[in-house]
Amino acid sequence: MSDFINVPEIFGSDVFNQATMQQRLSPEVYASWKQCIENGTPLELEVANPIAEAMRLWAIEKGATHYTHWFQPMTGITAEKHDSFIEPAGDGKVIMEFTGKALVRGEPDASSFPNGGLRATFEARGYTAWDPTAFAFVRDGSLYIPTCFFSYTGAALDKKTPLLRSIDEVSREAVRILRLFGDTETKRVIPCVGAEQEYFILPKDLYAQREDLRLTGRTLFGAVPPKGQELDDHYFGTIRNRVSQFMKDLDEQLWRLGILSKTKHNEGAPCQHELAPIYTDCNSACDDNQLTMLVMKKCAAKHNLVCLLHEKPFKGVNGSGKHNNWSLATDGGQNLFRPGKTPRQNAMFLVFLSAFIKGVDEYQDFLRCSVASAGNDHRLGAHEAPPAIVSIFLGDELTAVVESIINGTNYTDPQKSVMRIGVDVLPSIPRDTTDRNRTSPLAFTGNKFEFRMLGSSQSIADSNVALNTIMAEELQQFADALEKAPDFDQALQTLICNALTEHQRIIFNGNGYSKEWKQEAKERGLSNHASTATALPHYVSQKNIDLVTQHGIFTEEEFRARHEIHMESYRKIVNIEARTSIDMVLHQILPAATAYTKSLCEGMLAKKSLGISCAAETDLVGRLSAATDALYSHCEALRKELDGIPEGNEQIVSYYHDVIVSRMEALREQADILEQLTDKSYWPYPTYSDLLFY
Ligand code: ADP
Ligand code: MG
Repeated sequence: MSDFINVPEIFGSDVFNQATMQQRLSPEVYASWKQCIENGTPLELEVANPIAEAMRLWAIEKGATHYTHWFQPMTGITAEKHDSFIEPAGDGKVIMEFTGKALVRGEPDASSFPNGGLRATFEARGYTAWDPTAFAFVRDGSLYIPTCFFSYTGAALDKKTPLLRSIDEVSREAVRILRLFGDTETKRVIPCVGAEQEYFILPKDLYAQREDLRLTGRTLFGAVPPKGQELDDHYFGTIRNRVSQFMKDLDEQLWRLGILSKTKHNEGAPCQHELAPIYTDCNSACDDNQLTMLVMKKCAAKHNLVCLLHEKPFKGVNGSGKHNNWSLATDGGQNLFRPGKTPRQNAMFLVFLSAFIKGVDEYQDFLRCSVASAGNDHRLGAHEAPPAIVSIFLGDELTAVVESIINGTNYTDPQKSVMRIGVDVLPSIPRDTTDRNRTSPLAFTGNKFEFRMLGSSQSIADSNVALNTIMAEELQQFADALEKAPDFDQALQTLICNALTEHQRIIFNGNGYSKEWKQEAKERGLSNHASTATALPHYVSQKNIDLVTQHGIFTEEEFRARHEIHMESYRKIVNIEARTSIDMVLHQILPAATAYTKSLCEGMLAKKSLGISCAAETDLVGRLSAATDALYSHCEALRKELDGIPEGNEQIVSYYHDVIVSRMEALREQADILEQLTDKSYWPYPTYSDLLFY
């Protein structure tokens, strides 16, 4: 059958990966490249030249005519500028060329990428440099080179550079801990990430009829249909034929790009789906997730579908998130969050566990801010998504272990009066008892932590920078204390016990969606920043500035630039949404409602002249008129409010949240009433039923 895909054969076939490099580079060049990767040293031009040449030949065989430095600016999406390989040959002909210089360094005309004030306009250029730990690949006729993006002065202008820095930092501190446990082998510890991606798929023709979807990625209006997701008949249900064709195509494209796409299924909401890859190192996982989002959109278009990555495309329907599964592994493949079999291994597990618990408690706000965005505001704390309060779910077994350490009391075995860390064996923690609580924002799932607060459209870089850096900080503190302790076992015992005792408030195994939790979290003193507007000021707290600068993840300037950009992006998004709302009200909703009202009135006149009762029409017209008036007055108010934006970045963000977003909700309420009252043939765009149950 022609549908057959030889997966092992196509997997990674569009990637200039290690195997291809080994095959196509001379042994010397290959060895030099490997050394650069292992030691983190820059690539010399003598090495870059033959690599570029081999890449070019390989890419041209794959049909490429162009190359692009692919980078991840601070907007959260990826950017690319394509140059062809052609060079004039002097005789009116061209040759195909690609030099080592063009491989390692590029200069996109990047003046219009947001830079948060990092780059004065007279120094507008940003530079890109190949990240040789990430493989180049071919897509749509171009050779893609994954790169870092920075200013003339070397300030990081992207999301990849700080991520790479945080990966190195957590590795170094983790290795120090391993040494204390007698591990002399491990050279590097690698953060591992598996990012599960949720998305919506809609028919393109319906999507095209909605200005809100086209301009903002979400519906700004729409009455909830008679049937929602209450029957739960979509979750894991049979996948629609058209969608399954798309998914098959998507998988094939992702596999060709060396992305370990593993699981696909329907999600809770109608038209919602999920894709989960097999986890890989944090840097690749981040690139892969960006690429996955890109390919999803392109591939959907090919199938006359549209892929929505927005966090909340539909009110009253599940939103989309991203589950960032995170763990630490040694270069030898040992997972440091897996409880071990020997007392020694378990003690080490408890060191990493308590460092994580301490770090999350101390830097709740940093984690919260890493997922703050206009889109995610609609999702966090809504009924199907984690709350805006950061807490850790450990499961009953592990919580019992933690409690026994804190209290110095029995744990299961009555013979043991105290569980001595480093001496006693931990009870084995059965995996399947750990992942039952879907309401937790950060859950221990047997050998990894699943951070579930990320929005579906966000880059996973920010959250992983936060996780890696927090972990690096705590491991550093632990290593500092343990390295100079006269009695290691005693010091270990104290360290773990203290960390767990002081930070146990962050552990919560109950229902994160409940009202009671909000109250309890407040009593525990945990942060609850319900919106981006209230969260973002905490991003640049002195504590966070110290954390990121001391670990060399960001300079203070770089960090503040991110803060500026997050605020800027919030207010731009809300501004576009508000203006789109006004546009739709004035040009579509209001005309539809008044036209229908007019036709009702004309009917009433006719009926009255014949002496027939018009009770229904009278009532309907009254309700339509009331909603129309209210709609118009909210629309006018919104227009005026958009003219009254205050000064000052933080004030602007608060104003957009408190004034503009609330007004848009009030406006929507009236529009949705009108939608329900108006004859469908008058309604100017597809309704929720049309979109979700096509
Ligand atoms: P779920 O119950 O959420 O479906 P799975 O075990 O299927 O959990 O894994 C979900 C994601 O977590 C996958 O992307 C998987 O590859 C990833 N994952 C599994 N083990 C690890 C690990 N040690 N570190 C990071 N991610 C992991
Ligand atoms: Mg999951």
